Amino acid sequence: MALSITQFPAGPIETNAYLVVDDATMDAIVIDAPAGSVDLIAGGIARTGATVRSLIITHGHWDHIADTNGLARTLNVPVYAHAAVVDRIANPADGFPVEIVPATVDHQLDEGDVVMVGSHSFTVMFLPGHDVGHIALYDVENQIFLGGDVLFPGGHGRTDIPGSDQAVMNQTIKRLLDLPDDVVVYPGHGDQTTIGAERRWMTRLAARV
Ligand SMILES: [Zn+2]
Repeated sequence: MALSITQFPAGPIETNAYLVVDDATMDAIVIDAPAGSVDLIAGGIARTGATVRSLIITHGHWDHIADTNGLARTLNVPVYAHAAVVDRIANPADGFPVEIVPATVDHQLDEGDVVMVGSHSFTVMFLPGHDVGHIALYDVENQIFLGGDVLFPGGHGRTDIPGSDQAVMNQTIKRLLDLPDDVVVYPGHGDQTTIGAERRWMTRLAARV
């Protein structure tokens, strides 16, 4: 059986949350918590009958963490994130376009950890460059990459903001060239793409490492 992945764009800059469901067991995870995503995701869960096991935050930017508290409470699930975003979720800064309610990260994820969705396993990749605490989930068997803001159609996440670093991003992109062309990328903004579709610019960037 396969995985079903539903995209929920939400918030002022159309940040994608994802509901990832194992069709066999109906076990599920939710990726990221943009502002206004609680009702959207709760509706998606109600339609599918899935049982969500965890909320996984890809990185610490406001548009991905705003509704962490609301989602964790509504779905009654633990929150997972990299160590470098724990404090930003617990003590969010002011001055963003949406309110960020403080939330607790229950479990930390880092390179090589494994996240199960029913019988499917995602390996955690630590991929800094856009954010110091950025992780992605890679299912090698199903060729699925839940990438947050690392990789978009036609480019990578911004590297002109605090916590970002272009040289580090170049290394991250070089590393992602090891993924097969058929891997489907589910980005934090915009539509799906594949590693193959992005390989040309990624290869150019990786040459600067
Ligand atoms: Zn971001």
